[in-house]
Amino acid sequence: MTTEQALVKTVDFQLDIQSDNESLLYDATLEARSVYNETIRLAKQGVDWDAIPDRVADDADLVKNTTQRVVAKALGAMENYYEYNDFNQPSHTKNGTYPLRANYEEGYNLSPTDDGDVAFRISAKPYNHVKGVLKGSDAHLDLLKTALKSDEWKTTTSETLWCDGEPELHVNIRNTEQTVRDKQDSRTVVGVDVNEDNVALSALSEGGVEDTLVIDFPEIKFERHRYFTMRKRVQNAGKESIHDTLEGREERFVRDRLHKVSRHIVEWSRQFEKPCIVFEDLKEMRDSIDYGTRMNRRLHHLPFRALQYYTSYKASFESIPTGWIDPYKTSQRCPMCGHAERANRNKKRFKCRSCSHQDHSDRGASVNIAVKGIKKHQDWNVPALNSLPVVRKVRRRASGAVDAPTVTHPTVRGYQADGRMGVSD
Ligand SMILES: [Zn+2]
Repeated sequence: MTTEQALVKTVDFQLDIQSDNESLLYDATLEARSVYNETIRLAKQGVDWDAIPDRVADDADLVKNTTQRVVAKALGAMENYYEYNDFNQPSHTKNGTYPLRANYEEGYNLSPTDDGDVAFRISAKPYNHVKGVLKGSDAHLDLLKTALKSDEWKTTTSETLWCDGEPELHVNIRNTEQTVRDKQDSRTVVGVDVNEDNVALSALSEGGVEDTLVIDFPEIKFERHRYFTMRKRVQNAGKESIHDTLEGREERFVRDRLHKVSRHIVEWSRQFEKPCIVFEDLKEMRDSIDYGTRMNRRLHHLPFRALQYYTSYKASFESIPTGWIDPYKTSQRCPMCGHAERANRNKKRFKCRSCSHQDHSDRGASVNIAVKGIKKHQDWNVPALNSLPVVRKVRRRASGAVDAPTVTHPTVRGYQADGRMGVSD
């Protein structure tokens, strides 16, 4: 049985509102914020997550389906740890608007007009619509018009939100024909180990580890620490608005870098035969990582999840599937002999207490992730690992360009050099 995944694309538009009730839309996005906050509040109180949608929907002044979509998004954020700020408090339970998430034909409608535009109708409140036409790039309008009249693309959910004070509609359309290859049908599994300052990739096939790449991004770590300190300073001085501005700036910086890194991961993975990209599942990570401080927790989580999401999204457009595995002991286990203990790892250096194998510790973790990915999704055997290729390193510079790759840790014994030193990407 194949369980291929459909391809989803988001197209953005500005709203040219032609009914005189723009404020209704604004009120609805404020209401979406209360729904979001209420969901987080109930979840933190320990209310059963299955019971939350109905409880919240009873009081919300939104179309019921729309309320449910916002609740689902809030619970998703909860699950993925977006919900904690620097001080481990729920961070997104603030004031202001929140995107109004809706299902096609339940919370919003689109229809091509005789003038070649696309008309929208958003159910801002029950029995109360906001109408007008979409404005946007020709490419996005063309794609949407195609979606509305073809069988190949199908319109699914949308979000109404405010960007720089202007209303926008972000529409998700799903391609019903182009799909992502079934992950069980892979010949190479790429394990991705995401860290605060780098990401390690190892590609495993039946023949062994094909290649390893470590992409360093020290500037992301540096900038996040810098912003953290600045935000704390202004917060202590009671300057909340500056605090929020800094937070937004930091997020944009980190997102931009992570997009570049995720593109690099997909490009690298494409070279292998039928690849599947495998990550550690964050839901499982809660219990398996010992977070020293609250700051550590936040520093860890934001880039983890975002990088996984961006990579998975970009991979799907190359028809490359992604999988998730339980991260239990992936960073402590020796990929050669299987011995696992915390003392094997000392920062970026790994030395097995049992067989003396030495390695770059993040590469070791990426191999372990790939091994778990094979066990979980593939019907072929994990190869015996007698030797590992040289770790190649590239460093992303602040400009986004990639430095010339270098071979790392030439002094660390235990690498089996295979003559591919310094190969450029
Ligand atoms: Zn060992």
